[in-house]
Amino acid sequence: MARYRGALCRLCRRETEKLFLKGDRCFTEKCAVERRQYPPGQHGQRRGKLSDYGIQLREKQKVRRTYGVLEKQFRMYFKKAASAKGVTGTVLLQLLETRLDNIVCRIGFAPNRISARQLVTHGHFLVNGKKVNIPSYRLRVGDVVAIREASRELTLVNDSLSKIEHRGVPSWLELDAKNYSGKVLQIPAREDIQLTVQEQLIVELYSK
Ligand code: SF4
Repeated sequence: MARYRGALCRLCRRETEKLFLKGDRCFTEKCAVERRQYPPGQHGQRRGKLSDYGIQLREKQKVRRTYGVLEKQFRMYFKKAASAKGVTGTVLLQLLETRLDNIVCRIGFAPNRISARQLVTHGHFLVNGKKVNIPSYRLRVGDVVAIREASRELTLVNDSLSKIEHRGVPSWLELDAKNYSGKVLQIPAREDIQLTVQEQLIVELYSK
């Protein structure tokens, strides 16, 4: 599937907000959003007030870019969320949060979602003992993710794990760093998803 291959910081700058796409760098003063708090491009500093549609669009783009999902796939997530029980916006975020690549990142096996995605597609992970190389694979409560025995020496993984104390593991996940594995304890509630987004605006956008 096609992926965005341009400058990542540009995506954050477009949203004038940190999307934490690069890992460690995002927490330093080198972060592009810290240095230039206006959208990129020739007219970045001259953009006027957003319309209601513009605000809804920006919220959607923010979420889509955070999780690295293309428009078509994002729309499918929305359809699934709209037909499921519960608050559509929250279910949408829960579906994205329980993707395998996101959990690999959140649990600390990778410094960011892009590296997590690459590690997954390269077949470094097992889910409940079986190799899974699909980044969008949806994990459920009780599922166990583990790094394959042969992949436990990877520098990227070990570097990331060494910083996990600083980053912290969300309460809905459990990390067993010694055994290079982690478990989904529960589906995250809205307050567990650290995303400053008004998901209701995305629902409004797609409900037009
Ligand atoms: Fe975004 Fe991270 Fe780049 Fe900052 S350093 S602009 S948070 S990707």
